[in-house]
Amino acid sequence: MKNEFRELGLSEKMQQVITDLGYKTPTPVQEQSIPLILAGRDVGAAAQTGTGKTAAFTLPIMDKLGHRSKKSKGPLCLIVTPTRELAQQIDRVATTVGKRTNHKVLTVVGGVGYGPQTDALQRGIDILVATPGRLLDLIDRKLLRLSEVEVLVLDEADRMLDMGFWPAVRRITALVTNRKQTLLFSATLSAQVLTTAKPLLRNPEFVEISRAGTTADTVNQVIMPVDHAQKPDLLCEVLKAKGCSRVIVFTRTKSRADSCAKRLNKLGFATQAIHADRSQSQRERALIDFKKGKIDILVATDVLARGIDVSDVSHVFNYDVPTNPEDYIHRIGRTGRAGESGQAITFVGPDELSSLREIEQLLNMVIPTYDLEGFAYRETRIVPSPSRSAKKKQAPVFSGRRRGGGRYGRR
Ligand code: AMP
Repeated sequence: MKNEFRELGLSEKMQQVITDLGYKTPTPVQEQSIPLILAGRDVGAAAQTGTGKTAAFTLPIMDKLGHRSKKSKGPLCLIVTPTRELAQQIDRVATTVGKRTNHKVLTVVGGVGYGPQTDALQRGIDILVATPGRLLDLIDRKLLRLSEVEVLVLDEADRMLDMGFWPAVRRITALVTNRKQTLLFSATLSAQVLTTAKPLLRNPEFVEISRAGTTADTVNQVIMPVDHAQKPDLLCEVLKAKGCSRVIVFTRTKSRADSCAKRLNKLGFATQAIHADRSQSQRERALIDFKKGKIDILVATDVLARGIDVSDVSHVFNYDVPTNPEDYIHRIGRTGRAGESGQAITFVGPDELSSLREIEQLLNMVIPTYDLEGFAYRETRIVPSPSRSAKKKQAPVFSGRRRGGGRYGRR
């Protein structure tokens, strides 16, 4: 185990950058990927967000990347990522590094005007961070070429597949004709990701930090069984009891996010909602306010689960159990980041037990139940039995055995 960034082969200049970023020891994905990337290898890395993966590729790439000639417009490095929030997170790290390495960084995402992006492209850039749609738009408008790109990074490849971006990614990679190195980062290197993306890599090395279904060890997870009608009250009571001040609440829909935020504000919790119906500037403002501590609670939908990079979130609430078990991992990945401890609390309504079961199977663990003392739970809630199994192959759990004797019974 290498405890020092110094041992990874990064230059002296990069050691200063690491001090600027406030990092002391490399995370496992950094420890494993940085030497390979510095050696010029193609790398496929399974690392979920929150493991330090952004720096794992940004630091070595920018340490060895040259600078474009006066005549050329670049970019020399292209980083493709699925969401605006992730793009901005990468932009922040790359811009900090670029101040020391003299690389010009530009981020192009949809939902904002073309003018400033076009002007910056005309002036020339070394590193381009982009979401697939806007990137292809700029290429189609003949405002950008990718023929000088030497290093291509595909970030959150599994998410890009899920979001239907893969045809766009294929088009983009076909245009990066002179690339010398390709790096693929994905929360999991599932069979689907490997089949689709492996042909893009040349003689790759694979780095696996988190297998499918692992969550950060630093996150303390509990479920709170509750009737749906009582979720708003329970949330307020837990927040009051725990005195939470750095909280993200995830809801299933945009309207639930709005109504939840409204109620919390009414009760005096400084809260904002972020979801796809809010404008880019509203989303950015909410994230900045949250980071600065002007608001205590963010209420968000899954669209944003991967892109929220706030380092010291104390509690993540799943107001609704996510129906896609992978989303659970991404949601709770907002807390317990880079070694800090965090709490993930999931409200489980009577009709959400099967989604909970899928999550527990993916994690291969039973998430313990927590009841708030003094809260008047309704009889209609269903409390899963503590002796239930998280294993996949078992007799059907919900086939009419809910009452008494079943693995999940009413209390
Ligand atoms: P990422 O996985 O790139 O989303 O990073 C998650 C968080 O970990 C970010 O807030 C980073 O600033 C932080 N981070 C990354 N590397 C380190 C490190 N070596 N030490 C401490 N924090 C880090």
